[in-house]
Amino acid sequence: MKNYINVYGAGLAGCEAAWQAANRGVKVRLYEMKPQKYTPAHHTPGFAELVCSNSLRSDSTANAVGLLKEEMRRMGSLIMEAADATRVPAGSALAVDRKLFSDYITERIKGHSNIEVIEAEVDCTEQDTVTVIATGPLTSDPMAAYISETLGCGNLHFFDAAAPIVDAASINMDIAFFASRYDKGDADYINCPMTKEQYDAFYEALISAEEAELKAFDKESQKSLKVFEGCMPVEVMARRGYDTLRYGPLKPVGLIDPRVGHEFYAVVQLRKENVEGTMFNLVGFQTHLTFPEQRRVFRMIPGLENAEFLRYGVMHRNTYLNSPGMLDATYAMVARPEICFAGQMTGVEGYVESAGSGLLAGISAARRVKGLAAIACPEETMLGAMAAYVSRGGIGDFAPMNANFGIVPPLGYRVKGGKSAKNEKISERALEMLGEWKERL
Ligand SMILES: Cc1cc2nc3c(=O)[nH]c(=O)nc-3n(C[C@H](O)[C@H](O)[C@H](O)COP(=O)(O)OP(=O)(O)OC[C@H]3O[C@@H](n4cnc5c(N)ncnc54)[C@H](O)[C@@H]3O)c2cc1C
Repeated sequence: MKNYINVYGAGLAGCEAAWQAANRGVKVRLYEMKPQKYTPAHHTPGFAELVCSNSLRSDSTANAVGLLKEEMRRMGSLIMEAADATRVPAGSALAVDRKLFSDYITERIKGHSNIEVIEAEVDCTEQDTVTVIATGPLTSDPMAAYISETLGCGNLHFFDAAAPIVDAASINMDIAFFASRYDKGDADYINCPMTKEQYDAFYEALISAEEAELKAFDKESQKSLKVFEGCMPVEVMARRGYDTLRYGPLKPVGLIDPRVGHEFYAVVQLRKENVEGTMFNLVGFQTHLTFPEQRRVFRMIPGLENAEFLRYGVMHRNTYLNSPGMLDATYAMVARPEICFAGQMTGVEGYVESAGSGLLAGISAARRVKGLAAIACPEETMLGAMAAYVSRGGIGDFAPMNANFGIVPPLGYRVKGGKSAKNEKISERALEMLGEWKERL
Protein backbone atom coordinates (compact mmCIF):
# COMPACT_ATOMS: atom_id res chain seq x y z
CA MET A 1 0.00 0.00 0.00
CA LYS A 2 1.27 3.50 -0.86
CA ASN A 3 2.27 5.71 2.08
CA TYR A 4 -0.14 8.52 1.15
CA ILE A 5 -3.86 8.75 0.59
CA ASN A 6 -5.81 10.16 -2.32
CA VAL A 7 -8.88 12.24 -1.69
CA TYR A 8 -11.12 12.92 -4.68
CA GLY A 9 -13.19 16.12 -4.58
CA ALA A 10 -12.44 19.25 -2.52
CA GLY A 11 -16.03 19.77 -1.44
CA LEU A 12 -17.30 19.72 2.13
CA ALA A 13 -16.56 16.03 2.68
CA GLY A 14 -13.29 15.90 0.73
CA CYS A 15 -11.77 18.91 2.51
CA GLU A 16 -12.74 17.54 5.91
CA ALA A 17 -11.36 14.08 5.06
CA ALA A 18 -8.09 15.54 3.78
CA TRP A 19 -7.76 17.74 6.87
CA GLN A 20 -8.38 14.92 9.33
CA ALA A 21 -5.90 12.59 7.62
CA ALA A 22 -3.27 15.29 7.21
CA ASN A 23 -3.55 16.25 10.88
CA ARG A 24 -2.81 12.62 11.75
CA GLY A 25 0.53 12.90 9.99
CA VAL A 26 -0.54 11.29 6.71
CA LYS A 27 0.41 12.76 3.32
CA VAL A 28 -2.68 13.56 1.28
CA ARG A 29 -3.16 14.17 -2.44
CA LEU A 30 -6.38 16.10 -2.87
CA TYR A 31 -7.79 16.09 -6.40
CA GLU A 32 -10.31 18.73 -7.48
CA MET A 33 -11.54 19.29 -11.03
CA LYS A 34 -12.38 22.98 -10.48
CA PRO A 35 -11.52 25.41 -12.00
CA GLN A 36 -10.98 23.33 -15.14
CA LYS A 37 -14.43 21.81 -14.98
CA TYR A 38 -17.55 22.72 -13.00
CA THR A 39 -20.63 20.69 -12.05
CA PRO A 40 -23.95 22.38 -12.98
CA ALA A 41 -24.32 23.71 -9.39
CA HIS A 42 -20.75 24.84 -8.65
CA HIS A 43 -19.71 28.29 -9.86
CA THR A 44 -16.61 29.42 -7.95
CA PRO A 45 -13.04 28.08 -7.96
CA GLY A 46 -12.70 27.81 -4.15
CA PHE A 47 -13.07 24.63 -2.10
CA ALA A 48 -16.12 23.59 -0.02
CA GLU A 49 -18.50 25.65 -2.10
CA LEU A 50 -22.02 25.85 -0.65
CA VAL A 51 -24.25 25.33 -3.67
CA CYS A 52 -27.55 26.55 -2.23
CA SER A 53 -28.45 27.87 1.21
CA ASN A 54 -25.72 29.50 3.30
CA SER A 55 -27.14 27.98 6.48
CA LEU A 56 -25.62 25.09 8.40
CA ARG A 57 -28.84 24.96 10.43
CA SER A 58 -29.40 24.97 14.20
CA ASP A 59 -26.54 25.37 16.64
CA SER A 60 -28.31 23.98 19.72
CA THR A 61 -27.30 20.56 21.09
CA ALA A 62 -30.98 19.84 21.80
CA ASN A 63 -31.15 19.63 18.00
CA ALA A 64 -29.65 16.70 16.06
CA VAL A 65 -27.63 18.77 13.59
CA GLY A 66 -26.50 21.02 16.46
CA LEU A 67 -25.16 17.93 18.23
CA LEU A 68 -23.44 16.79 15.04
CA LYS A 69 -21.72 20.17 14.76
CA GLU A 70 -20.58 20.06 18.37
CA GLU A 71 -19.13 16.57 17.86
CA MET A 72 -17.29 17.79 14.80
CA ARG A 73 -15.88 20.78 16.67
CA ARG A 74 -14.54 18.42 19.31
CA MET A 75 -12.88 16.34 16.59
CA GLY A 76 -11.06 19.40 15.23
CA SER A 77 -13.25 19.83 12.15
CA LEU A 78 -11.99 22.31 9.56
CA ILE A 79 -15.50 22.87 8.22
CA MET A 80 -16.73 23.87 11.68
CA GLU A 81 -13.67 26.04 12.32
CA ALA A 82 -14.40 27.88 9.05
CA ALA A 83 -18.12 28.16 9.80
CA ASP A 84 -17.50 29.63 13.24
CA ALA A 85 -14.98 32.09 11.80
CA THR A 86 -17.21 33.31 8.98
CA ARG A 87 -20.69 33.22 10.48
CA VAL A 88 -23.27 35.86 9.67
CA PRO A 89 -26.12 36.77 12.06
CA ALA A 90 -29.05 34.36 11.53
CA GLY A 91 -30.83 33.97 14.88
CA SER A 92 -30.25 30.53 16.37
CA ALA A 93 -28.99 29.11 13.07
CA LEU A 94 -25.34 28.95 12.03
CA ALA A 95 -25.24 30.72 8.68
CA VAL A 96 -22.02 31.74 6.95
CA ASP A 97 -20.67 34.17 4.40
CA ARG A 98 -20.21 31.58 1.67
CA LYS A 99 -17.26 33.32 0.00
CA LEU A 100 -15.32 33.88 3.21
CA PHE A 101 -16.17 30.32 4.28
CA SER A 102 -14.81 28.84 1.07
CA ASP A 103 -11.76 31.16 1.08
CA TYR A 104 -10.97 30.17 4.67
CA ILE A 105 -11.05 26.46 3.88
CA THR A 106 -9.12 26.82 0.61
CA GLU A 107 -6.38 28.74 2.37
CA ARG A 108 -6.09 26.27 5.27
CA ILE A 109 -6.02 23.26 2.94
CA LYS A 110 -3.49 24.80 0.56
CA GLY A 111 -1.34 25.91 3.48
CA HIS A 112 -1.18 22.46 5.11
CA SER A 113 2.25 20.90 4.75
CA ASN A 114 0.80 17.38 4.43
CA ILE A 115 -1.68 18.23 1.67
CA GLU A 116 -0.83 18.47 -2.01
CA VAL A 117 -3.64 19.88 -4.14
CA ILE A 118 -3.93 18.55 -7.69
CA GLU A 119 -6.27 20.35 -10.08
CA ALA A 120 -7.55 17.49 -12.20
CA GLU A 121 -10.67 15.50 -12.92
CA VAL A 122 -10.34 11.89 -11.78
CA ASP A 123 -12.08 8.94 -13.40
CA CYS A 124 -10.71 5.92 -11.53
CA THR A 125 -8.81 4.95 -8.38
CA GLU A 126 -5.07 4.20 -8.19
CA GLN A 127 -3.79 0.68 -7.49
CA ASP A 128 -2.75 -0.04 -3.89
CA THR A 129 -3.71 3.40 -2.64
CA VAL A 130 -6.02 4.23 0.21
CA THR A 131 -8.59 6.54 -1.35
CA VAL A 132 -11.51 8.65 -0.17
CA ILE A 133 -14.00 9.32 -2.97
CA ALA A 134 -15.92 12.50 -2.16
CA THR A 135 -16.89 13.80 -5.58
CA GLY A 136 -20.39 14.70 -4.42
CA PRO A 137 -23.95 14.33 -5.66
CA LEU A 138 -22.94 15.87 -8.99
CA THR A 139 -19.86 13.68 -9.57
CA SER A 140 -18.64 14.15 -13.14
CA ASP A 141 -19.83 11.50 -15.61
CA PRO A 142 -16.63 9.46 -16.10
CA MET A 143 -16.15 9.08 -12.34
CA ALA A 144 -19.84 8.30 -11.83
CA ALA A 145 -19.58 5.54 -14.45
CA TYR A 146 -16.45 4.13 -12.79
CA ILE A 147 -18.11 4.09 -9.37
CA SER A 148 -21.26 2.47 -10.59
CA GLU A 149 -19.86 0.01 -13.15
CA THR A 150 -16.26 -0.82 -12.15
CA LEU A 151 -16.66 -0.54 -8.40
CA GLY A 152 -20.17 -2.00 -8.70
CA CYS A 153 -21.81 0.50 -6.36
CA GLY A 154 -25.00 1.06 -8.34
CA ASN A 155 -26.60 4.44 -7.98
CA LEU A 156 -29.85 6.06 -7.03
CA HIS A 157 -30.93 9.66 -7.26
CA PHE A 158 -33.39 12.36 -6.37
CA PHE A 159 -33.64 16.02 -7.28
CA ASP A 160 -32.38 18.94 -5.25
CA ALA A 161 -33.00 22.64 -5.80
CA ALA A 162 -31.28 25.90 -4.84
CA ALA A 163 -32.92 29.23 -3.88
CA PRO A 164 -32.34 32.61 -5.56
CA ILE A 165 -30.23 35.43 -4.12
CA VAL A 166 -31.14 39.11 -4.48
CA ASP A 167 -29.22 42.37 -4.18
CA ALA A 168 -30.00 43.91 -0.76
CA ALA A 169 -30.04 47.42 -2.24
CA SER A 170 -32.94 46.44 -4.49
CA ILE A 171 -35.25 45.41 -1.62
CA ASN A 172 -37.90 48.02 -0.84
CA MET A 173 -37.47 48.60 2.89
CA ASP A 174 -40.51 50.91 2.95
CA ILE A 175 -42.48 47.67 2.74
CA ALA A 176 -40.08 45.00 4.05
CA PHE A 177 -38.85 45.07 7.65
CA PHE A 178 -36.19 43.55 9.86
CA ALA A 179 -37.54 41.33 12.67
CA SER A 180 -36.94 37.99 14.33
CA ARG A 181 -39.79 35.59 15.06
CA TYR A 182 -41.37 36.35 18.47
CA ASP A 183 -38.73 39.08 18.79
CA LYS A 184 -36.20 36.44 19.90
CA GLY A 185 -32.50 37.24 19.40
CA ASP A 186 -31.36 39.84 16.90
CA ALA A 187 -33.61 40.97 14.06
CA ASP A 188 -31.45 39.37 11.38
CA TYR A 189 -34.04 38.48 8.75
CA ILE A 190 -35.69 40.78 6.26
CA ASN A 191 -39.41 40.07 6.14
CA CYS A 192 -41.70 40.74 3.20
CA PRO A 193 -45.29 40.90 4.45
CA MET A 194 -48.37 39.87 2.45
CA THR A 195 -52.07 40.60 2.81
CA LYS A 196 -54.54 37.86 1.88
CA GLU A 197 -55.14 39.46 -1.53
CA GLN A 198 -51.40 39.64 -2.23
CA TYR A 199 -50.92 36.04 -1.12
CA ASP A 200 -53.80 34.85 -3.33
CA ALA A 201 -52.33 36.53 -6.40
CA PHE A 202 -48.82 35.26 -5.63
CA TYR A 203 -50.07 31.73 -4.94
CA GLU A 204 -51.98 31.54 -8.24
CA ALA A 205 -48.98 32.84 -10.17
CA LEU A 206 -46.63 30.41 -8.45
CA ILE A 207 -48.62 27.24 -9.02
CA SER A 208 -49.20 28.05 -12.69
CA ALA A 209 -45.69 29.38 -13.49
CA GLU A 210 -43.55 27.70 -16.12
CA GLU A 211 -40.93 25.25 -14.90
CA ALA A 212 -37.56 24.85 -16.57
CA GLU A 213 -36.96 21.77 -18.64
CA LEU A 214 -34.70 19.21 -17.08
CA LYS A 215 -32.73 18.91 -20.29
CA ALA A 216 -29.97 16.74 -18.91
CA PHE A 217 -32.39 14.28 -17.42
CA ASP A 218 -35.11 14.12 -20.06
CA LYS A 219 -35.82 10.44 -19.51
CA GLU A 220 -37.51 11.37 -16.30
CA SER A 221 -41.05 12.65 -16.42
CA GLN A 222 -41.16 15.98 -14.59
CA LYS A 223 -44.35 14.98 -12.85
CA SER A 224 -42.74 11.96 -11.25
CA LEU A 225 -39.64 13.78 -10.02
CA LYS A 226 -38.46 12.43 -6.70
CA VAL A 227 -37.52 15.53 -4.70
CA PHE A 228 -35.92 15.68 -1.28
CA GLU A 229 -38.52 16.85 1.26
CA GLY A 230 -36.03 19.12 3.02
CA CYS A 231 -35.13 20.96 -0.19
CA MET A 232 -38.42 20.86 -2.06
CA PRO A 233 -39.03 23.46 -4.77
CA VAL A 234 -41.38 26.14 -3.48
CA GLU A 235 -43.76 25.65 -6.42
CA VAL A 236 -44.00 21.89 -5.69
CA MET A 237 -44.75 22.64 -2.05
CA ALA A 238 -47.38 25.22 -3.06
CA ARG A 239 -49.20 22.68 -5.21
CA ARG A 240 -49.77 20.53 -2.14
CA GLY A 241 -52.40 22.99 -0.95
CA TYR A 242 -53.34 26.64 -0.59
CA ASP A 243 -52.12 26.86 3.02
CA THR A 244 -49.02 24.66 2.80
CA LEU A 245 -46.67 27.62 2.32
CA ARG A 246 -48.34 29.55 5.15
CA TYR A 247 -47.44 26.69 7.48
CA GLY A 248 -43.99 26.38 5.92
CA PRO A 249 -41.58 29.01 4.58
CA LEU A 250 -44.24 31.77 4.50
CA LYS A 251 -45.33 31.23 8.10
CA PRO A 252 -46.43 34.64 9.44
CA VAL A 253 -46.79 33.92 13.18
CA GLY A 254 -44.58 35.87 15.53
CA LEU A 255 -43.36 38.27 12.85
CA ILE A 256 -44.49 41.80 13.56
CA ASP A 257 -43.54 44.93 11.66
CA PRO A 258 -42.71 47.41 14.45
CA ARG A 259 -44.11 50.21 12.25
CA VAL A 260 -47.62 48.70 12.17
CA GLY A 261 -47.62 46.44 15.22
CA HIS A 262 -49.50 43.41 13.85
CA GLU A 263 -48.95 40.07 12.10
CA PHE A 264 -49.64 39.49 8.40
CA TYR A 265 -51.39 36.84 6.32
CA ALA A 266 -48.07 35.46 5.06
CA VAL A 267 -44.42 36.54 5.26
CA VAL A 268 -41.47 35.75 2.99
CA GLN A 269 -38.15 35.80 4.88
CA LEU A 270 -34.76 36.73 3.46
CA ARG A 271 -31.50 35.76 5.10
CA LYS A 272 -28.12 37.48 4.84
CA GLU A 273 -25.76 35.89 2.34
CA ASN A 274 -22.59 37.74 3.32
CA VAL A 275 -21.11 39.58 6.29
CA GLU A 276 -21.60 42.96 4.61
CA GLY A 277 -25.32 42.23 4.20
CA THR A 278 -25.30 43.21 0.53
CA MET A 279 -26.92 39.96 -0.63
CA PHE A 280 -29.92 38.09 0.73
CA ASN A 281 -31.39 34.70 -0.14
CA LEU A 282 -35.08 33.88 -0.18
CA VAL A 283 -35.48 31.34 2.62
CA GLY A 284 -37.24 28.17 1.45
CA PHE A 285 -37.49 29.38 -2.14
CA GLN A 286 -35.59 26.54 -3.79
CA THR A 287 -37.11 26.50 -7.22
CA HIS A 288 -37.22 24.93 -10.60
CA LEU A 289 -39.02 27.77 -12.42
CA THR A 290 -37.51 29.27 -15.56
CA PHE A 291 -35.40 32.38 -14.88
CA PRO A 292 -37.94 34.81 -16.45
CA GLU A 293 -40.71 33.22 -14.35
CA GLN A 294 -38.61 33.58 -11.18
CA ARG A 295 -38.26 37.29 -11.96
CA ARG A 296 -41.96 37.70 -12.71
CA VAL A 297 -43.42 35.65 -9.83
CA PHE A 298 -40.94 36.49 -7.06
CA ARG A 299 -41.20 40.20 -7.88
CA MET A 300 -44.87 39.91 -6.87
CA ILE A 301 -43.64 39.54 -3.28
CA PRO A 302 -44.22 42.91 -1.57
CA GLY A 303 -40.83 44.60 -1.13
CA LEU A 304 -39.25 42.64 -3.98
CA GLU A 305 -41.03 44.43 -6.83
CA ASN A 306 -37.68 45.78 -8.11
CA ALA A 307 -35.50 42.95 -6.82
CA GLU A 308 -32.27 42.39 -8.74
CA PHE A 309 -31.51 38.69 -8.91
CA LEU A 310 -27.82 38.02 -8.38
CA ARG A 311 -28.37 34.29 -8.75
CA TYR A 312 -31.45 32.40 -9.85
CA GLY A 313 -32.65 29.18 -8.27
CA VAL A 314 -31.74 25.95 -10.06
CA MET A 315 -32.52 22.27 -9.77
CA HIS A 316 -30.16 19.32 -10.18
CA ARG A 317 -30.01 15.59 -10.05
CA ASN A 318 -28.51 14.45 -6.78
CA THR A 319 -26.88 11.04 -7.05
CA TYR A 320 -26.14 8.72 -4.14
CA LEU A 321 -25.00 5.14 -3.80
CA ASN A 322 -26.93 2.14 -2.65
CA SER A 323 -24.62 2.06 0.39
CA PRO A 324 -26.20 -0.44 2.83
CA GLY A 325 -24.15 -3.62 2.81
CA MET A 326 -21.68 -2.06 0.39
CA LEU A 327 -20.07 0.39 2.86
CA ASP A 328 -19.22 -0.39 6.47
CA ALA A 329 -19.66 2.01 9.39
CA THR A 330 -16.24 3.55 8.75
CA TYR A 331 -17.37 4.51 5.20
CA ALA A 332 -15.01 1.90 3.67
CA MET A 333 -16.12 -0.50 0.93
CA VAL A 334 -16.73 -3.93 2.38
CA ALA A 335 -15.28 -5.56 -0.75
CA ARG A 336 -12.31 -3.16 -1.06
CA PRO A 337 -11.60 -1.58 2.33
CA GLU A 338 -8.82 0.61 0.92
CA ILE A 339 -11.57 2.64 -0.80
CA CYS A 340 -13.75 4.88 1.35
CA PHE A 341 -16.62 7.08 0.24
CA ALA A 342 -17.64 10.33 1.89
CA GLY A 343 -20.22 13.07 1.54
CA GLN A 344 -23.66 13.32 0.09
CA MET A 345 -23.01 10.45 -2.32
CA THR A 346 -22.97 7.95 0.58
CA GLY A 347 -26.59 8.76 1.44
CA VAL A 348 -26.09 11.31 4.19
CA GLU A 349 -28.02 14.47 3.39
CA GLY A 350 -26.87 18.03 4.01
CA TYR A 351 -23.77 20.16 4.26
CA VAL A 352 -22.91 19.29 7.87
CA GLU A 353 -23.73 15.62 7.43
CA SER A 354 -21.54 15.48 4.32
CA ALA A 355 -18.64 17.09 6.16
CA GLY A 356 -19.24 14.76 9.13
CA SER A 357 -18.93 11.68 6.95
CA GLY A 358 -15.74 13.15 5.48
CA LEU A 359 -14.39 13.52 9.00
CA LEU A 360 -14.91 9.82 9.77
CA ALA A 361 -13.72 8.65 6.34
CA GLY A 362 -10.55 10.75 6.68
CA ILE A 363 -9.82 9.25 10.09
CA SER A 364 -10.39 5.68 8.93
CA ALA A 365 -8.31 6.21 5.76
CA ALA A 366 -5.44 7.63 7.84
CA ARG A 367 -5.53 4.64 10.17
CA ARG A 368 -5.45 2.20 7.26
CA VAL A 369 -2.43 3.83 5.69
CA LYS A 370 -0.66 3.52 9.02
CA GLY A 371 -1.54 -0.19 9.16
CA LEU A 372 -4.07 0.29 11.97
CA ALA A 373 -7.61 -1.07 11.99
CA ALA A 374 -10.36 1.48 11.45
CA ILE A 375 -12.58 1.89 14.51
CA ALA A 376 -16.23 2.76 13.96
CA CYS A 377 -17.48 5.80 15.86
CA PRO A 378 -20.05 4.80 18.55
CA GLU A 379 -23.61 4.72 17.26
CA GLU A 380 -24.70 6.77 20.26
CA THR A 381 -22.99 9.77 18.68
CA MET A 382 -24.60 11.56 15.74
CA LEU A 383 -21.45 11.01 13.65
CA GLY A 384 -21.61 7.27 14.40
CA ALA A 385 -25.38 7.03 13.97
CA MET A 386 -25.16 8.54 10.48
CA ALA A 387 -22.41 6.08 9.53
CA ALA A 388 -24.42 3.17 10.90
CA TYR A 389 -27.48 4.30 8.94
CA VAL A 390 -25.48 4.48 5.72
CA SER A 391 -23.96 1.03 6.22
CA ARG A 392 -27.20 -0.69 7.21
CA GLY A 393 -30.04 1.42 5.78
CA GLY A 394 -33.44 1.66 7.41
CA ILE A 395 -36.84 0.22 6.71
CA GLY A 396 -37.85 0.25 3.03
CA ASP A 397 -35.83 1.70 0.14
CA PHE A 398 -32.56 3.36 1.06
CA ALA A 399 -32.99 7.15 1.00
CA PRO A 400 -30.71 10.03 2.02
CA MET A 401 -30.98 11.04 5.65
CA ASN A 402 -30.39 14.22 7.62
CA ALA A 403 -29.03 14.02 11.15
CA ASN A 404 -31.91 13.19 13.50
CA PHE A 405 -32.39 11.64 16.94
CA GLY A 406 -34.49 8.80 15.48
CA ILE A 407 -31.37 7.00 14.21
CA VAL A 408 -29.61 7.09 17.60
CA PRO A 409 -30.14 4.11 19.98
CA PRO A 410 -32.65 5.01 22.72
CA LEU A 411 -31.44 6.01 26.20
CA GLY A 412 -33.17 3.04 27.81
CA TYR A 413 -34.69 5.13 30.60
CA ARG A 414 -37.37 7.81 30.85
CA VAL A 415 -36.49 11.49 31.00
CA LYS A 416 -38.85 14.02 32.58
CA GLY A 417 -39.32 17.38 30.87
CA GLY A 418 -40.37 16.40 27.34
CA LYS A 419 -38.59 15.92 24.06
CA SER A 420 -36.07 18.67 24.43
CA ALA A 421 -34.90 17.39 27.86
CA LYS A 422 -34.60 13.89 26.36
CA ASN A 423 -32.57 15.19 23.42
CA GLU A 424 -30.25 17.02 25.80
CA LYS A 425 -29.61 13.72 27.61
CA ILE A 426 -28.92 11.95 24.31
CA SER A 427 -26.48 14.73 23.46
CA GLU A 428 -24.72 14.46 26.81
CA ARG A 429 -24.29 10.72 26.31
CA ALA A 430 -23.08 11.27 22.73
CA LEU A 431 -20.43 13.81 23.72
CA GLU A 432 -19.19 11.60 26.54
CA MET A 433 -18.89 8.57 24.25
CA LEU A 434 -17.23 10.65 21.57
CA GLY A 435 -14.60 11.68 24.11
CA GLU A 436 -13.91 8.03 24.94
CA TRP A 437 -13.69 7.09 21.25
CA LYS A 438 -11.28 9.94 20.63
CA GLU A 439 -9.06 8.59 23.40
CA ARG A 440 -9.11 5.11 21.81
CA LEU A 441 -8.03 6.56 18.46
C1 LIG B 1 -28.59 21.68 -6.15
C2 LIG B 1 -28.27 21.26 -4.76
C3 LIG B 1 -28.64 22.06 -3.69
C4 LIG B 1 -28.33 21.67 -2.38
N1 LIG B 1 -28.69 22.49 -1.37
C5 LIG B 1 -28.37 22.17 -0.09
C6 LIG B 1 -28.68 23.07 0.99
O1 LIG B 1 -29.24 24.14 0.78
N2 LIG B 1 -28.35 22.71 2.25
C7 LIG B 1 -27.72 21.53 2.52
O2 LIG B 1 -27.42 21.27 3.70
N3 LIG B 1 -27.39 20.66 1.53
C8 LIG B 1 -27.72 20.95 0.23
N4 LIG B 1 -27.40 20.09 -0.80
C9 LIG B 1 -26.89 18.75 -0.48
C10 LIG B 1 -25.41 18.63 -0.04
O3 LIG B 1 -25.29 19.05 1.27
C11 LIG B 1 -24.43 19.34 -0.91
O4 LIG B 1 -24.49 18.80 -2.19
C12 LIG B 1 -22.98 19.24 -0.37
O5 LIG B 1 -22.17 20.13 -1.07
C13 LIG B 1 -22.43 17.83 -0.48
O6 LIG B 1 -21.07 17.81 -0.09
P1 LIG B 1 -20.04 16.82 -0.78
O7 LIG B 1 -18.72 17.08 -0.19
O8 LIG B 1 -20.58 15.46 -0.75
O9 LIG B 1 -20.03 17.27 -2.32
P2 LIG B 1 -19.60 18.66 -2.95
O10 LIG B 1 -19.59 19.71 -1.95
O11 LIG B 1 -20.46 18.81 -4.16
O12 LIG B 1 -18.09 18.41 -3.41
C14 LIG B 1 -17.73 17.58 -4.45
C15 LIG B 1 -16.50 18.18 -5.13
O13 LIG B 1 -15.98 17.21 -6.05
C16 LIG B 1 -15.63 17.83 -7.27
N5 LIG B 1 -15.70 16.81 -8.31
C17 LIG B 1 -16.81 16.23 -8.87
N6 LIG B 1 -16.43 15.27 -9.74
C18 LIG B 1 -15.06 15.23 -9.74
C19 LIG B 1 -14.10 14.46 -10.42
N7 LIG B 1 -14.43 13.48 -11.28
N8 LIG B 1 -12.79 14.72 -10.21
C20 LIG B 1 -12.39 15.69 -9.34
N9 LIG B 1 -13.27 16.46 -8.66
C21 LIG B 1 -14.60 16.22 -8.84
C22 LIG B 1 -16.66 18.95 -7.40
O14 LIG B 1 -16.16 19.97 -8.25
C23 LIG B 1 -16.83 19.42 -5.95
O15 LIG B 1 -15.91 20.43 -5.62
C24 LIG B 1 -27.66 20.45 -2.12
C25 LIG B 1 -27.28 19.64 -3.20
C26 LIG B 1 -27.58 20.04 -4.50
C27 LIG B 1 -27.14 19.14 -5.64
